[in-house]
Amino acid sequence: MIGFVLPGGEFEYDARGLLMSFFPGEEFVMNPSGNDVDQTIILPDIPFEGEKNHRKNIFKRRVYDQLSEMTGRTLPWGTLTGIRPVRIVSDLIKAGYSPEQAAEVFSRDYYVSPEKTELSVDIALRERAALKGLNLNSGYSLYVGIPFCPTRCLYCSFTSYPAAAWYGRMEDYLDSLYKEIDWTCRRFTSPPDTIYIGGGTPTALSSDLLDQLLDRLCSRFDLGRGQEFTVEAGRPDSIDAEKLDVLRKYPVNRISVNPQTMSQATLDRIGRKHTVYDTVNAYYLAREKGFDNINMDIIIGLPEEKPADVANTAEKLEELSPDSLTVHALAVKRASRLKMEAEGTVVAGGTQKELEEMMKTAAAAAASIGLKPYYLYRQKNMAGNLENVGYAKDSKLCLYNIVNMEEVQTVVALGAGTVTKAVWPDGRIERCDNAKDILLYMGAVDEYIARKAKLLSGF
Ligand code: SF4
Repeated sequence: MIGFVLPGGEFEYDARGLLMSFFPGEEFVMNPSGNDVDQTIILPDIPFEGEKNHRKNIFKRRVYDQLSEMTGRTLPWGTLTGIRPVRIVSDLIKAGYSPEQAAEVFSRDYYVSPEKTELSVDIALRERAALKGLNLNSGYSLYVGIPFCPTRCLYCSFTSYPAAAWYGRMEDYLDSLYKEIDWTCRRFTSPPDTIYIGGGTPTALSSDLLDQLLDRLCSRFDLGRGQEFTVEAGRPDSIDAEKLDVLRKYPVNRISVNPQTMSQATLDRIGRKHTVYDTVNAYYLAREKGFDNINMDIIIGLPEEKPADVANTAEKLEELSPDSLTVHALAVKRASRLKMEAEGTVVAGGTQKELEEMMKTAAAAAASIGLKPYYLYRQKNMAGNLENVGYAKDSKLCLYNIVNMEEVQTVVALGAGTVTKAVWPDGRIERCDNAKDILLYMGAVDEYIARKAKLLSGF
């Protein structure tokens, strides 16, 4: 346990973020009393003058300098501890800075490494180009959450219930969802610009229920205009020919088939009850069925994985050649079994150097398939203090991912554990969420609809 003292009293959240980045895995206590800490760090003063953000940035640089000197470490993302580093670059470019000037400010004011600066500018420019055709002020995107999965992955912190235990009540869940779908359809005169059915694993539904859900959506909204329409078919053990045929009946034009790793030993270790063969088979089946925009997700830092495992995953991905690839760094959240077991038997894989090497291997695989980085976000407690990056072919990137991550368009979210975000023209963002607990959600769906109606009343 490490204690810290914050002489200025302000910006505790930011101070903690930097402390956690420099001392990964440690616990921190502010203003410790007694002998319950191994050491106490007195953090620098906060400047008195200037606007809040300006003072905060100066304070963070001071903390960074102090901790960097103490540990002999530097951080690739410098003083940035937030989820959306690319947004800083986008805002600078929007304000009239050239990409070169934005890069200079980004690396100078936030101590971001040249490599991450280049990546961020690259992504900011690609995002801007991708969003050009989208109506950001009066359009909206639609997210539908299906919180069921075949089994629970060890690292999962999403809203996910075991499909087998819920088979008898999935229809009840869909009934609640239909209420929300019908309300959304009445509320908006135009169809959504992008639709994303995620979870959970939407293809954990039976083919009949999947058919019903898609029929409901497509009969309520005019979705035949080539809008981006993603269905996460994430778990290969939830995909079969019948379900793919159902998806093809509707204008679904992007799916995800997620290996996470191509190492069987790791799959077994993390509780994904499928084989590498299942992944490859599901992918080729989807191709046979005519899907020409398939995403694959992988995770860096899975328990006991080493660079050779990621090299093997990368090699197999290159053979498959998906249209997009999302590379996640493992984020261990409080709710996941992995975190609970971390102290015992399961340990996230790789030293810092190995994690960085594995990230580079994944990036190189993406490049060799012809995929370019187009969105990026960070989370708390990420392995190696790294980032999640989405790579895609130019014409196959996922607008929903950009819209959602960069918070540039309103997202209406339906289902248990989802969050609706209203993005107002002046940049203000307001949220309202549905209960994560599926029974609470089903029992109070009318209330969640009323909350959304209130949130979006001026939209
Ligand atoms: S597939 Fe995704 S949502 Fe389902 S248990 Fe695994 S991590 Fe969680």
